[in-house]
Amino acid sequence: MQLRIGNGYDIHRLVPGRPLILGGQRLEHPAGLGLDGHSDADVLVHAIMDALLGSLSLGDIGKYFPPDDPRWKGADSLVLLEQVKALVQQRGWSVVNIDSVVVAERPKLKPHIGAMAAAIAERLGIAPDQVGVKATTNEHLGAEGREEGISCHAVALLSRS
Ligand code: MG
Repeated sequence: MQLRIGNGYDIHRLVPGRPLILGGQRLEHPAGLGLDGHSDADVLVHAIMDALLGSLSLGDIGKYFPPDDPRWKGADSLVLLEQVKALVQQRGWSVVNIDSVVVAERPKLKPHIGAMAAAIAERLGIAPDQVGVKATTNEHLGAEGREEGISCHAVALLSRS
């Protein structure tokens, strides 16, 4: 059996007047902020897509979904994730597991973790326990700590027999 590992990172700015979507779930930020971006700016799903692409040296999401392409304006990132899954599957690889950590001061993500993992697992055709979603604050340090943005780190392990 062959194994491949990949890592992904993303950050988007928190701004007023935008929805806050993480793992496909619409959340409420206590200060009414949301993530800015060309698509729905779902940093969690973006980091996971980059981890999947990276594991097979397929480049990054900017290569497949360029931010200047009007097709991806306001795109649902879970739909983009399905396209990345197709690229992985076409090459004969399956996802063993994913792990991720979202760095956000607010809102509290814990109540939403299960729904995020389930939504991502469903699009990838794997079980929710193959998708680790964790959350941490940045202890008020740095850009995430000042609520200028939310970032995410992810790793993906793939196998092929
Ligand atoms: Mg992004």
